[in-house]
This record gives sequence, C-alpha cells and structure tokens, in this order.
Amino acid sequence: MKISVIGCGYLGAVHAAGMASLGHEVVGLDVDTDKIARLQAGKVPFHEPGFDSLLTEQLASGRLEFTTDPSKVAEAEVHFIGVGTPQQKNSKAADLSYVHAATDSLIPYLCEGAVVVGKSTVPVGTARALRSQIQQAQPSAELIWNPEFLREGFAIKDTLTPDRIVYGVADGAEWAAEKLDTIYRSIIDIPTPRLIVNMETAELVKVSANAFLATKISFINAMAEVCEATGGDITELADAIGHDVRIGRRFLNSGLGFGGGCLPKDIRAFHARSLELGLDESLDFLRLMDEINLRRRDRVFAMAEELVGGEGALAGKTVAVWGLSFKPDSDDIRESPALDVAGRLVAAGATVRAYDPAAMQNAIRQVPGLILTESPAEAAEGAEVVVLCTEWREFRELDPEAVITRCPGKRIVDGRNCLDREAWVRAGWTLRSPGRPDLA
Ligand code: NAD
Repeated sequence: MKISVIGCGYLGAVHAAGMASLGHEVVGLDVDTDKIARLQAGKVPFHEPGFDSLLTEQLASGRLEFTTDPSKVAEAEVHFIGVGTPQQKNSKAADLSYVHAATDSLIPYLCEGAVVVGKSTVPVGTARALRSQIQQAQPSAELIWNPEFLREGFAIKDTLTPDRIVYGVADGAEWAAEKLDTIYRSIIDIPTPRLIVNMETAELVKVSANAFLATKISFINAMAEVCEATGGDITELADAIGHDVRIGRRFLNSGLGFGGGCLPKDIRAFHARSLELGLDESLDFLRLMDEINLRRRDRVFAMAEELVGGEGALAGKTVAVWGLSFKPDSDDIRESPALDVAGRLVAAGATVRAYDPAAMQNAIRQVPGLILTESPAEAAEGAEVVVLCTEWREFRELDPEAVITRCPGKRIVDGRNCLDREAWVRAGWTLRSPGRPDLA
C-alpha cells in the first residue's frame, strides 16, 4: 500500500523504514531539510541500534523515500502523523502546534477515502477534534488514533514486533481500521494483540502507560529516600519486592531517575490535561512523581559534592562524568538527568571531563563548558571524583583496577546503581550509591 509518514524523528523515521520493510511504498515527510537530506542519503540522524542497515536496505529497495515537499504525499492512501508534541515553553501542557501544522499541510492532499493515523502522543480529546477538522475538508476521509509505544534503543524491534497495537476508532469507521490492518497484517499475524477502542481510550492508553512507568520509577526512588534516611538498601529492597509477580522487578532500578523526550513531558501534559478537565485531585500524584524524580539529581550532585569536601567544594575540582544521554543505547539528551547533573557540576565551578558513547555532540551544544574525552578512562584522568550518570554497558564492564590508575581521587558516585560495588571497593575506590549504605 502507498503510505506517508509525516514527521521523521525517532518515531517517524523508524516507522517509515519499518513499514517499507513490510512491503509498503513509503514517503517520509518532514520540515527539517537537513534531516531529510541525511535520511535520503542513508545517514541516520540519531543513534539507534540496527537502524543504519534497515534504512540502507529500504532505500535500496526503492520502496522508501524522504521529502520536504508535502505534495509528494498526495498518492498515499494512509498517512501516519508522528510529529513532536513537546512541553509548552511556559506551561506543563503539550504543545500541539506541530500536530496542527502537519494536519494543515496534509489536508489539501487527502484523496477520497484517505485514512489519517495519529501516532504522536497527545492529550485526550485531541483526536476527535482533528477528525472533525479533517472531515470538514474531506468528508470521506477518516482518522484513527494508533499510539506508539516504541522505546529508543529498541525502536526497530518495538515497531515490527510490538507488545500490542491499539486503534482508537470512531463509530462507523471500521472500514478504516481494516485498511490499517492491511498495513500491519504481518505484525498482527505474529500474532500481536490488536485492540480496538474508542479514540479517547486510545489517547489515554498511551499517557496512562507512561504515567504508570514513571510512577514505578519514582516509587522506587521515593523508597531510596527512605533507605537513605534509615540505613536500608534500595537495591536489595527492589530485588525482594520484585520477586512478587504482582510487582515485578522491571522498572524498579533506583538511581538518577527518568528523563528523555517522553516520560517527563507526558506526565506533565497528562496532569495539565486533568486540571483542564476539572479533575484537580485525580492525577495530583503525577506532580509528586515528577518532583521525586527531579530530587534524585540533587541527591547525586550532593553525593559528588560530599565526596570532595562538602558544599561549595566542587569549585576548581576536576570531575569525570560518565554518560550524558538520558538512557543507554541512545544519543537523546532531551530532559537527560545525566546532562542536567553535568551542567550543574560545570555551574558549580568544576572542570568537567565527560564521556558518552553516543551523545557527546548533542551534549556539547547544550552544555558548552564540558570537556569531551574519548573514553571513560580518559575522562577520569586527573579527576577527584567520577559521577556515573547513564548506565551504558561499557561502564558496567570497566575494569575498576585499570581505571583507578587514571583517577587520583579514587572516588566514584554510581548514580545508576549499576556497578559491581564489591569489585570497585576491592580495587580501592571510595564508592557512593544513592539509596544504598556505603560498603565497609
Ligand atoms: P522528534 O522531535 O524526534 O521528531 C519530530 C519530527 O517532526 C521532527 O523531525 C520535526 O522536524 C518534525 N516535524 C515538526 N513539524 C512538522 C510538520 N509540520 N510537518 C512535518 N514534520 C514536522 O520526536 P519523536 O521522539 O519522534 O516523537 C514524536 C512523537 O512520538 C511525540 O508525540 C512523542 O511523544 C511520540 N513518541 C515518541 C517516542 C520516542 O521514543 N521517541 C515513543 C513513543 C511516542
């Protein structure tokens, strides 16, 4: 089938190539000329494992092309919208201007019986309003809300073998759902659960899933605060409660907290939407989850400060930061707790030697005061303290005995609780971990 994907960022570029790999003819449209030129040349504009080869293969197949020309989508029967929905500048609500601009640019090219498929994460109520706008211009067109659940770092797997597919479908629009089934046929046949719900439910499924995940992380980080006050150990606590199958161990890793282009802005937008709906108390806990999450950055920063002599002691000291992306296997620095801590260290007057396997070029644009290095060991050169901020596998696999020869301070804050503590302490490091008592 001929389809278009409007918005070719993390979501849209992977979706476009993924749909081409299922045999469809795909046009990816974006307003960012540089991004489109790179994608069309087979160059991936962000770090995503496996995406280089998928993109190259699909461009070579002739089924995939990228453009900035909206008229090129005119032949498509189905149009996916995957543009950004960031937090507004002066409020916690979602900025829907990109969704509206994408819809406006699409409407003149909608053919009879076209199906528009919303994939961006939007506040509940958005889809129904967009559907009216689209049908005023093209009465035979239909809109389905099909939220995206992909995780950066696993984007291809999550696009082609998702846990579930959700369609938000208006009454009488079953024909449009069948068209979307045709596109996703080989995914549905894996089998993948495909749930048909109303439009509001589909929008809410996405934001409530993210609210639940954020709550799970903030819950364990709140427990870490209690452990710090009492001498408990958050990792042992998480292991113990995680054995309960009703709770589960995943998303119970305590540390520097969540970030990225989704969870923080999605829980804020969900809370903001609940206030607009007059539900002042229903989602108030999300505001607290956000606060708990942000407090972890204060805690990790304070641990680094304590290790070098207390308040104000970071000024003039050399500090190594390991990890700048918001999570491993990504170069995404949107709302990155790691980059936030690195920026605070620079602001405190420290000389910050940073290393990240993928995010350094993005990071330096946001925090120009960082000194970028080629490896974790080089970052540790001359440092009084190392602060591990993103749990890249490369850091977990480091040899503590080798790195200690480069780091005169021999101190480390494991901001992600991901190191083998015994091994690091045995090698001579003074190691602090949020939520855990020091090893003797
Ligand atoms: P992104 O910022 O990487 O990409 C958005 C793209 O949309 C950009 O390339 C931008 O140039 C383009 N764009 C903006 N206005 C446009 C217009 N009028 N016409 C065409 N293109 C336009 O964002 P993303 O991370 O891909 O997220 C997109 C949406 O998907 C958001 O709503 C996000 O919440 C949701 N989402 C993202 C992920 C993820 O892991 N990144 C996962 C699930 C859902």
